[in-house]
Amino acid sequence: MAKAMADIASENNRVAGWRALTLAGLIGCALVATLLLTADALPQVLGAFAAGALGGGVIAGIVAVLVTRRRLSLHSQRLECAVNNMNQGLCMFDGKGRLVVWNRRYIDMYGIDPRRIRHGVSLHELLDARVAAGTFPFDVENYATKLRAAIGQGKAFTLNVEQIDGRTIAVVNQPMADGGWVATHEDITERTRAERALEQTRQFLDTIIENVPTPIIVKDAALRYCLINRAAEQYLGVGRDVMLGRRARDVLPAETAEAIEAQDARLIDSGDVAFLDEHAVLTPRNGIRIVTATRLTVKDKDGKPQYLIVVINDLTDRKRSEQRIAHMANHDPLTDLPNRAAFNESLRATVDLAAAAGESFALLCIDLDRFKSVNDVFGHATGDALLREVALRMQSVCQGAFLARLGGDEFAVITPTGAQPAVAEALAERLGAALDADIDINGHILRADVTIGIAIYPQDGADASTLVSNADAAMFRAKTEARGSIRFFEVAMDKKLRDKRALQQELRLAVARNELSLHYQPQATIAGEIVGFEALARWNHPVRGPVPPGVFIPLAEEAGTITAFGQWILRSACREAASWPRPLHIAINLSPVQFLRDDLPNLVHGILLETGLAPGRLELEVTESVLIGDFTRALSILRRLKGLGVRIAMDDFGTGYSSLSYLQAFPFDKIKIDQTFVVNLAHSAQSATIIRAVIALGHGLDLPVMAEGVETEEQLRFLAGCGCDGIQGFFVGRPQPINEYAEAVGRAPFGKKRKRPHIAIAG
Ligand code: C2E
Ligand code: MG
Ligand code: MG
Repeated sequence: MAKAMADIASENNRVAGWRALTLAGLIGCALVATLLLTADALPQVLGAFAAGALGGGVIAGIVAVLVTRRRLSLHSQRLECAVNNMNQGLCMFDGKGRLVVWNRRYIDMYGIDPRRIRHGVSLHELLDARVAAGTFPFDVENYATKLRAAIGQGKAFTLNVEQIDGRTIAVVNQPMADGGWVATHEDITERTRAERALEQTRQFLDTIIENVPTPIIVKDAALRYCLINRAAEQYLGVGRDVMLGRRARDVLPAETAEAIEAQDARLIDSGDVAFLDEHAVLTPRNGIRIVTATRLTVKDKDGKPQYLIVVINDLTDRKRSEQRIAHMANHDPLTDLPNRAAFNESLRATVDLAAAAGESFALLCIDLDRFKSVNDVFGHATGDALLREVALRMQSVCQGAFLARLGGDEFAVITPTGAQPAVAEALAERLGAALDADIDINGHILRADVTIGIAIYPQDGADASTLVSNADAAMFRAKTEARGSIRFFEVAMDKKLRDKRALQQELRLAVARNELSLHYQPQATIAGEIVGFEALARWNHPVRGPVPPGVFIPLAEEAGTITAFGQWILRSACREAASWPRPLHIAINLSPVQFLRDDLPNLVHGILLETGLAPGRLELEVTESVLIGDFTRALSILRRLKGLGVRIAMDDFGTGYSSLSYLQAFPFDKIKIDQTFVVNLAHSAQSATIIRAVIALGHGLDLPVMAEGVETEEQLRFLAGCGCDGIQGFFVGRPQPINEYAEAVGRAPFGKKRKRPHIAIAG
């Protein structure tokens, strides 16, 4: 375009030159005519000749001018036509900044008034015309200054101008050698729009690919990475800065790279889409991932592979959580041993296997001895740590047997099939031995003895549930006989267990059927004066006859019926005591389970109001086990009970932990030394020592001490000698229906007169 402009300019110059030459010819002819009128003969001829020659030249010049002009006009018409039909607006300025060439497109493009545009107008005038047309959005002066400065330095001045009507015009001002410049104006609105749309689409796709949570990797035909989206960076564990431009072998672990490059090569050869099912990939910095991958090639128009796209589905996390869920469903979270569900499954499978093979195996039910006490005394964290250690030790000697934790301190082992009972016995011995050494948990030296019950398939049970209940029965029997022992199932045990369940069932109905009753045992001062009675529950079973409380109280505690019993006992004993003419005190035993379940202070308060018993006459007997569980809660219940004006006695002292801290933590009103020490007095020097120590301790704490189980005068003398404050036992009176103690409570004697016990201490 600039060249066309230069041609037009040079043609114009040539036209101007011929114009000057024609003018010179005409002037020459005029000079010749003047000479012909005034000159003499020869010189005139010579002159005429000369003039003729001159005149001929002029004519030739004129002819030449005319010919050239015609040719030039044709040329210029063609150029003008071309210029005016250009798609771009065009302006050309000379070195003085005057407009010398322009086209129609320019005028139309900016809607310029054609009268304001003519040859020789200045840049300012032209821009003013555009301002008037509303198609020049800049400051004229400022624009012109910048344009001239650029042209002055021989530089192009280009810019894209956004018009008010939304068009975008690309303007290029190109400097020319003579100091002028050519300006082209091109409407690039559509092109710009298309470019923008294209850019937006590209950005949109980039954003999508970048944010798709699926790793996408693209390689070029040379198998160099050319696109890695964000998910792919996370999947690989390295950024795109490391990957882009490199090949698999440059960035991936050798074996991974080898496999991938082989797959790539196959795919490039076949040109197909390839789906790689679940497989493991060792990534550069994200460990081993389990993935599926879809790989495909993108071909160019000649059908040659241009890109290779890999879309990865990373299944690792899903797989791991599936495994975790499956593991959690079948394992105990504390010890990580198989749980009850897994045990049931394994037992069923082992029964099937043994049945099919005609083989035998054993089931061991294992119970940790006194685990509850560990929890109570040292806290649950220590209890948990003990269970973990026990599980580890047992696992270490199981040797292919299936060990499971069924819950709490209960474990079970299914032995592999083999010669029984030898295999079971050996395993039980190993388990016992594994737990022989003390366990140190945070400085607490603990022992974990286990009691084991064993049932053997098929003789002790041909199905899973019979085997379990018989191994359980053996374990219970072992517990009652000797904790820490191993016991094989015997048919008699099964009967015992079933008996126990039946008894528990019947116990539920005992209150309603009026089968419960209370016996009262006198409590006396050391001098023999009866000061109160302890209420002791009795169950008179319609068929079995009297069932001792040592049997049915633990059963009621286990079955939860103790709360109903406890309420009945409290109410009956208080009502009974309230009816006595003599204001003797009444001692009532409370079960630890009542502490857990009942709102005892409210219950006692209600019963005192209901029966009218003076609170000071009621003495509640509790054992240490009440405090061992939830110490703070138990303490607060005891305080509230004491707040009612009721007395609290520590029963069976010396049998549990006999923790002195309990005596310090709560102001008990009495300590009752357990009867075992009194019973053993005759043949155990230790018992005597303990009794002396407990009495001294009680007195040191300003607490009266009562001895239980006093049966003989010797025992009484010993206790009196130690300064014991009170006694209870057959020597004073057996537990009996209260009618037997009518006189003692101040009532008229009932039926046959009973001899009052005579207590005499040699002074
Ligand atoms: P305990 O509270 O220590 O009751 C004293 C036990 O010692 C009673 O046994 C009583 O008969 C027995 N005993 C009393 N004097 C002598 C004696 O001189 N020699 C011997 N060998 N034994 C004597 P019992 O009645 O069999 O009660 C046993 C345990 O059952 C009680 O021990 C108590 O812990 C529990 N118990 C009894 N009745 C109730 C009750 O109503 N509620 C609760 N929660 N527990 C009860
Ligand atoms: Mg008692
Ligand atoms: Mg007792």
